[in-house]
Amino acid sequence: MILYNSLGQTRQEFVPFNDKEVNMYTCGPTVYHYAHIGNLRTYIMEDVLEKYLRFSGYNVKRVMNITDVGHLTSDADTGEDKMLKGAKREHKTVLEIAKFYTDAFFADCAKLNIKTPDVVEPATNCIDEFIEMVSVLLEKGYAYVAGGNVYFDTSKLDSYYVFGNMNEDDLAVGVRDSVEEDENKRNKADFVLWFTKSKFDDQELKWESPWGIGYPGWHIECSCISKKHNGEYLDIHCGGIDNAFPHHTNEIAQSEAYLGHKWCNYWFHVLHLNDARGKMSKSSGDFLTVSLLEEKGYNPLVYRMFCLQSHYRKPLTFTYESLDNTAKAYEKLTKRIAGLSKDGSADIAKAKPYLDSFKEALDNDINTSLGLTCVYDVLKADLDDATKLYLIDEFDKVLSLNLTKAKSAQEQTESADSEVNAEVEALIAQRTKARAEKDWATADAIRDKLKEMKVVIKDTKDGIEWHFEN
Ligand code: AMP
Ligand code: ZN
Repeated sequence: MILYNSLGQTRQEFVPFNDKEVNMYTCGPTVYHYAHIGNLRTYIMEDVLEKYLRFSGYNVKRVMNITDVGHLTSDADTGEDKMLKGAKREHKTVLEIAKFYTDAFFADCAKLNIKTPDVVEPATNCIDEFIEMVSVLLEKGYAYVAGGNVYFDTSKLDSYYVFGNMNEDDLAVGVRDSVEEDENKRNKADFVLWFTKSKFDDQELKWESPWGIGYPGWHIECSCISKKHNGEYLDIHCGGIDNAFPHHTNEIAQSEAYLGHKWCNYWFHVLHLNDARGKMSKSSGDFLTVSLLEEKGYNPLVYRMFCLQSHYRKPLTFTYESLDNTAKAYEKLTKRIAGLSKDGSADIAKAKPYLDSFKEALDNDINTSLGLTCVYDVLKADLDDATKLYLIDEFDKVLSLNLTKAKSAQEQTESADSEVNAEVEALIAQRTKARAEKDWATADAIRDKLKEMKVVIKDTKDGIEWHFEN
């Protein structure tokens, strides 16, 4: 399998540290607001990567943090605390909004068929581990205390800008609300490991530490949580491209300084979802969510398909017009699949070349649009329906578009009929109970409702019989 690795900026053969075991880490959401569909593009593409690794026979352990403390509005340690900003906006506590938006995030993921990682760890669970890592970095001389905060000293590293094409000026990127300089830093690129001298007098979440009461920096979370659950060697680290610098660059600095050896081999970065105004961002407060798409009548899986239609390393522009095109394509595709006969059994030998083409597409740096084309190729192929369904089911283990779950027209009518029948049965049972309890008002109301539904009831010696009026 070939993956583009941001470390080295080349396409490389994927070889895990330990044969078929893959340790994978994903930067989780900062839970001060709903995830927007840009964030979810990143999580959809990471989900495809994880599922394809499993499909290829790897055992994957995927770990994700939940950022519920420490992330400031600028990724370079300036600006406001994002969680506090969210709490003030909603007149709630930080932990209340963290819980609310964590639940909302996983509800959105479920709608998009994004699998929940094997381990999900909120940063606020790991304060002792952060303190231990910061202490070791201080002992080893990679960190210093200044003005009450603990900083990582980037001058102690042989190379800091590991992803290339970056320099100190890029630190200004993302500084939206403030351009303040931190006078305590020895080098411009140094970053905070632990804040005690908070700029925010009203900081809600604070903990005792050897350096005073305070809270962790954002970057230390991921180094620490990955070490806690993935161990000292990480195969793949994922995130959106904006995380590459400074966040992932700082993670590498901390982890390798702490561990004393190379930490993570492959860095998988998903490019941004943009709209007409540019990169979609939470802090602008003006963004699209899965719920909003649903309100507008879109199946969330249409958005998943929209993402799969383009490569994760290309920026993707969102417009309703292109989403409409995907919605039409999705409906046509699932209808065609629903029309396949479920009888018979698959011819595995005949299926093999089609399975190989799918693997070839995904082995080529997760080429999901080619993977989707494989579904159309199968539909057109000279194969029996059972083999087609078998193949599409296999592909859908990775694509996760519920391709074979859509019901045929006949199945839809049958299931609609059975739902109505169940409702009538339930109403009749309620009416019988109401009559037994001499609750005539309820019994009469149910009788009227059944009449409205054109249901005719007959009392017989075997009980109540019913049918719809002709
Ligand atoms: P956050 O909740 O802001 O920490 O971001 C969660 C994930 O979404 C991170 O991996 C970000 O890199 C990623 N992300 C943020 N904005 C976008 C965007 N417009 N398109 C794709 N991914 C994004
Ligand atoms: Zn992270």
